[in-house]
Amino acid sequence: MTFRSRARAGLSPKAVAGAPLQANGSRCLMLGMEPTDIEPLSSAEEFLDSACLGCGCVCDDIDIVVKQGRIVGADNACSIGVGWLLEESGGPACKIAGEPAGLDEGIARAAEILAGARFPLVTGLEEASIESQKVAIQIARRIGARLDTTTSPGRQAYWLAVQDVGAVGCTLGEIRHRGDLIIVWRADPNETHPRHFERYSIDAVGNVAHRGRVDRFVIAVDETETTDCADRFIRLSADQEIEALVTLRALARGVALDADQVAARTGSPLQTWQDMFTKMKEARYGVLLFEPSPDRLRNAAILRLVRDMNEHTRFVGSPLGAAGNAAGAEQVALWSTGYPGAVDLARGVPRYLPDESTTAALLERGLVDAILVVSGDPALLATSRGSVILLNVPTVVLGGRENVTMRSATVGFRVARLGREDSGTVFRSDGAPIPVRECLVSLFPGTRELLARIDQAIAALPERGPAFHESPGGS
Ligand code: SF4
Repeated sequence: MTFRSRARAGLSPKAVAGAPLQANGSRCLMLGMEPTDIEPLSSAEEFLDSACLGCGCVCDDIDIVVKQGRIVGADNACSIGVGWLLEESGGPACKIAGEPAGLDEGIARAAEILAGARFPLVTGLEEASIESQKVAIQIARRIGARLDTTTSPGRQAYWLAVQDVGAVGCTLGEIRHRGDLIIVWRADPNETHPRHFERYSIDAVGNVAHRGRVDRFVIAVDETETTDCADRFIRLSADQEIEALVTLRALARGVALDADQVAARTGSPLQTWQDMFTKMKEARYGVLLFEPSPDRLRNAAILRLVRDMNEHTRFVGSPLGAAGNAAGAEQVALWSTGYPGAVDLARGVPRYLPDESTTAALLERGLVDAILVVSGDPALLATSRGSVILLNVPTVVLGGRENVTMRSATVGFRVARLGREDSGTVFRSDGAPIPVRECLVSLFPGTRELLARIDQAIAALPERGPAFHESPGGS
């Protein structure tokens, strides 16, 4: 993929007046400007095919218009994407204990905190580029830290289910081209991933599904905004979900079922599930879209159903994916340590402790004495006890936006935001790497450069005993 950028000679009044909604449902917004404000726009610059990190779709067809250092247009972005692009960050580049400080002073203090810790934690990573994540993991190795991400508890439970069952997945491009049955399983992409249908699934025109929506059958399980565009709808509550998945799996394996039991446990008659299974079996390329949940058994039930459907036809499961670069954080942790998070590097070799070394678990048990947070907000995952620990432990926080963890940082660095002011590579929810680049000049340093300087500062400190530490709970 190449990036295109050009000085914009002027925007037609038509493009502006008709801005709010395009035929494809996305928006061309001239943000906060009247048409008269933008004639002529000889100084405006347009960044074509930019990527948006507002959700796991990572749409890379956003045409951003920048004028006088501000984003004034975001062609093709949905409302979530516009909000993400417009989010401003300010304040000093570095604060120590809440007071503005010089960058060099902050780096030296951060290095002291991290190098001096016996039980450090490196976490966050969800809004950093792959290049920055690699440097963060290098620091984690150097100081013998526990390494985790702040992606949702649902993602962690999803990875545990993948380790149990395996996953039959695909790229979003495959869904676009080949998917002829789309099941939206207790999720609402219309709300959370507004351009998923247009770009990748229900409405997308592909090589095989070349008439887009006409070539697809859509089943919505659970009532959401998405129900309106489905051919069939099955109501299902959260407590009936695993039963419904098991029922479909039993049908896929030819197991005889008791109709009364099925109706009582799933809320729908057996015939409803038989009809749905028939549609699944008849599909040439079935797709189940879902959001991973913190319930590991439920995630495993979805993965097992998808796996067993491949006895009948091609069938894939596709998690919808989180904003930022959450997928990248897990992938980089995987290829660097062998595990997607919750890794203990204290003994010099990675140990996977998914119940003990997650950010939430370590905070809850108070098993940290310093934390490096790279573009994330562990406060969102912490219990009230964990929040108290977070407030009382020295923290080094790098972030492009204000959040609870940033506000209470011992050393806080404001960094350029990826995709707005900083460039790098991210992973889309399906694992496809997507390059992103800056469209604004930043007053703040890039995450990767800053982490590299902190790493160098740690390396330059005098040796302090063994190269790695024993876990407080380790044997
Ligand atoms: S669908 Fe997601 S990635 Fe695409 S523009 Fe909207 S928020 Fe951005």
